[in-house]
Amino acid sequence: MVTTLSAPLTRRDRCDRCGAAAKVRAVLPAGSELLFCEHHARAHRSGLHAAGARLSPEQ
Ligand SMILES: [Zn+2]
Repeated sequence: MVTTLSAPLTRRDRCDRCGAAAKVRAVLPAGSELLFCEHHARAHRSGLHAAGARLSPEQ
């Protein structure tokens, strides 16, 4: 399966947890995407890495 590169985050992208402006995109091995603000990217970073997610920008 070929996955296309996702578009850069914009001001319209919102954290999936709190609705703040998204700063980090997490792509799970299954291909689904989650968006996080800086706060929630930090909060979930270890769990995302444990799940094999790729964070962009790298965290
Ligand atoms: Zn958030």
